[in-house]
Amino acid sequence: MTNQTFCRTCGAEILETSEICPKCGVRQCGVRQFGVIQNQIKNPGFAAVASCLWVGLGQIYNGEIGKGLLFMVIQMVNALLVWHESTSDFALRTLILNL
Ligand SMILES: [Zn+2]
Repeated sequence: MTNQTFCRTCGAEILETSEICPKCGVRQCGVRQFGVIQNQIKNPGFAAVASCLWVGLGQIYNGEIGKGLLFMVIQMVNALLVWHESTSDFALRTLILNL
């Protein structure tokens, strides 16, 4: 009963996973797409992926905008420090090689 749904056209009991109603042959994609959209509204998996792409995105997505922005600023400062470190290191090595 848990994975059963009803055809939106003829009302026959069908599997939730079936794309086409075996009784009337009508595609059930409208119902399925609606379900997918609903899942995307608060999807912790998506939030985790967003956080991986850019720190703070997941927090903003979850409604924690202040926390997300704070994480983004920390990430930017970190990136700047790493960039500064690597460029100054490169400049130093170039200088040593040129001496
Ligand atoms: Zn049907």
